[in-house]
Amino acid sequence: MAHTQPALPYAQDALEPHISANTLSFHYGKHHAGYIKKLNAAVEGTDLAGLSLEELIAKGPSTGVFNNAAQTYNHTFYWNSLSPNGGGEPTGKVADAINGAFGSFEAFKAAFTSAAGTHFGSGWGWLVKDADGNLSVTSTHDAGCPLTDGLTPLLVVDVWEHAYYLDYQNRRPDYLAGFWQLVNWDFVAQNLG
Ligand code: MN
Repeated sequence: MAHTQPALPYAQDALEPHISANTLSFHYGKHHAGYIKKLNAAVEGTDLAGLSLEELIAKGPSTGVFNNAAQTYNHTFYWNSLSPNGGGEPTGKVADAINGAFGSFEAFKAAFTSAAGTHFGSGWGWLVKDADGNLSVTSTHDAGCPLTDGLTPLLVVDVWEHAYYLDYQNRRPDYLAGFWQLVNWDFVAQNLG
């Protein structure tokens, strides 16, 4: 079963001015597509070929295909974390869960921005839920994915330089400010369950 790249859930220019069509054309069309192509080449003809992305990620880095499997998963999760109709503050159960865990939306936003903004090098900033339903903010290095720690991802931001360098150069804080204008709270609600 070959892994396929899901269609972007919006047009490539739909996230402008925060994320440009130029960035998405490379990020979705080259980086994400490249991880999927390498993943398929690596699992073809092996006993890993029938496994889902989640199953490959759960096996951890020892399989040798972890990086491409997790980057495939993480990027699809990132596209879905964004929406041209996103931004603002969550409502309903997401607001309740965030307020319960962090005290306020502003406190959550500060914690998430700090985790993503101070993450050293390539990686990802996440809002996650543990098996007891507790929410927390974390970051992972390179292809790291919370699924390997038994955590449920709720929201992600890509902080690899390729996610923002064309639009913001070294200014990751400006990219993160744009990210908050795009957060797809409906997707977060869906993941919260
Ligand atoms: Mn990326």
